[in-house]
Amino acid sequence: MARCVIFLADGLRPDAIRPDTSPSLYALAEDYTQAATAVTVRPSTTVAALLSLATGVGPATHRLGEPGLAALRQFARLHPLPGHLAARHLATVVVAGDVGPAEVPVARALALAAGISRFVATAGPARRVAAAAAGRLRFVPDGLVVVYVNDCDRAGHAAGWMSRAYLDAVAEADAAVGQLRAAAADSLLVVLADHGGGGVAPRDHDAPHPVNDAIPLVLAGPRVRRRSVLKRPVSLLDVPPTVLWWLGLEVPAEYEGAVLHDAFVAAAATRAVA
Ligand SMILES: [Zn+2]
Repeated sequence: MARCVIFLADGLRPDAIRPDTSPSLYALAEDYTQAATAVTVRPSTTVAALLSLATGVGPATHRLGEPGLAALRQFARLHPLPGHLAARHLATVVVAGDVGPAEVPVARALALAAGISRFVATAGPARRVAAAAAGRLRFVPDGLVVVYVNDCDRAGHAAGWMSRAYLDAVAEADAAVGQLRAAAADSLLVVLADHGGGGVAPRDHDAPHPVNDAIPLVLAGPRVRRRSVLKRPVSLLDVPPTVLWWLGLEVPAEYEGAVLHDAFVAAAATRAVA
C-alpha cells in the first residue's frame, strides 16, 4: 500500500506552530522531518500556489494566475500531478473545506482537467473536513488524498495574522492534523501551507515579503527520517516531485522542484522507479 496525504492549511504561518497553539503539528514536526525554511511561490496567493502544487511548475510557467475556466486550456500543455497518478491507475482525491458555492463548479472543472479522480466539497471547521477525508481513506488505498482547510486564512483576513482569532484557527487546523495523522498512520503525510500572511499588511498575504513567502513543511510516516530538520532552503515546488517519487513514479523533467531525498531514510530510494 502506498498512499500520500497532503494536508494544506491555507495561510498557516510556520511561526504559529508552537506547543501551546498547535501541539499535534508541533509534535509531528519534532518527531519526523520538518523544513527550517520553506517558501511558497510568488505571488504568494492561494491560486498561484495550489496550481503550482498541481502542476509542479511555478506561476511564471503555468501562468494560471486567474481562477476560472481560462485555466482549463493551460492544463493541456502542462503535466499535472494527478494525471501522472491516473496513468498508473492511482487515484487523486481532493477533500476541500468551505469552497464557496459559486466556486464549486469551477473548482470541479479544474480538478477534472488536472486529472483528479474525485473532488469532495465539504463545509465547516477543519476537524469536519479532516473527518470527511478520514472517511474516504479506505477507498484510496493507493494514491493521493489532498485535504484543504482554510480556517487560518479566513481568520487572518478578518482579524490579522497571529491575532487571537488567527491562533484559534491554527488550533482548529492542528486538531484536524491530529485526526488525520491517527487515521492515516500508514501514509506519507505532508503538511504545508500555500502562503504565510501579515508580512506587509496585517490582514493580507499577496505582497512580496519573506513573512508572506514562508510556509511550514512537515513530512511524517513510513521511511521519513525521525527527529530531523532540513536546514537548506526548500520550496513548495519540491512537494510534487517528492510525492511522485515516494509513490514510485517518474518525475517529469519539466517539474521545477526536486525530490526531498534528505527527508527519507536511504532504504526509501529503492522505491524509485528507474
Ligand atoms: Zn487569503
